[in-house]
Amino acid sequence: MSINFNIISLSPKFFESPNNMGIISRAINKKLITINIIDLRNFGEGNYKQVDDCPYGGGSGMLLKPEPIYKAYESIKRSGNSLTLLMSPQGKQLNQSDFLRWLAFDQVIIICGQYEGYDERVRFLADEEVSLGDYVLSGGEIPAIGIINGMSRLVPGTLGDPNSLRDESHNNFLLEYPQYTRPYNFRGMRVPEVLMSGNHKEIERWRKSQMINRTLNRRSDFLFSSKLFHLKANTESHTNYSSYYPDW
Ligand code: SAH
Repeated sequence: MSINFNIISLSPKFFESPNNMGIISRAINKKLITINIIDLRNFGEGNYKQVDDCPYGGGSGMLLKPEPIYKAYESIKRSGNSLTLLMSPQGKQLNQSDFLRWLAFDQVIIICGQYEGYDERVRFLADEEVSLGDYVLSGGEIPAIGIINGMSRLVPGTLGDPNSLRDESHNNFLLEYPQYTRPYNFRGMRVPEVLMSGNHKEIERWRKSQMINRTLNRRSDFLFSSKLFHLKANTESHTNYSSYYPDW
């Protein structure tokens, strides 16, 4: 399994360091993902390579013109199973189940906006419009980096220990349990005794109850939504990630 990411952006420099560090560079080196950054400026018009213009009807700021984005999009060599995502604060809010669902595609094209956003006709290119959250950023690059990072760590082979995906927050409908490492006593704050006991059954039981408590306290909305069922359905139909789920 490998994913080919194609990013259309006016700020390709944004991607230089994230793509050369940690998880992403490891996934690239192992050929689990490829990343192709398409500089929108190269598809601009005229001597100034213009990519933006004023909105019809007036109003503040500049909009990305449709032609350069369409041309950049058409320059991408398409694979059979390709998904196009448009970064937009008006889109559906991104969550872990989207990453799992998108693992079914072998090509992901991400269009990043800037300025006041896009000419409305750009939206026709997108299969899905995606928001990082209910706030406005200056460009789609940060959400795009989030998507590449979040999806790459789910591609089998990227993480050293795939079991680390199993219990983590958002990979099932509960948040992760509290975790501790050395020292046992840090400034008077001690590690819960159960974790020192070596009794794996007890530890498992404690962790499960902590996951439930945490979720109730912080995100009780998860427990009363159908999130669990969506996640299960998505995973089962597209990938073999069901093996990462606790069997309880
Ligand atoms: N005027 C637009 C916002 C433009 S922000 C509006 O009101 O909807 C400029 C670009 O940054 C957007 O086109 C989008 O690509 C990106 N962007 C900003 N906030 C974002 C968010 N929360 N999620 C995803 N992309 C975002």
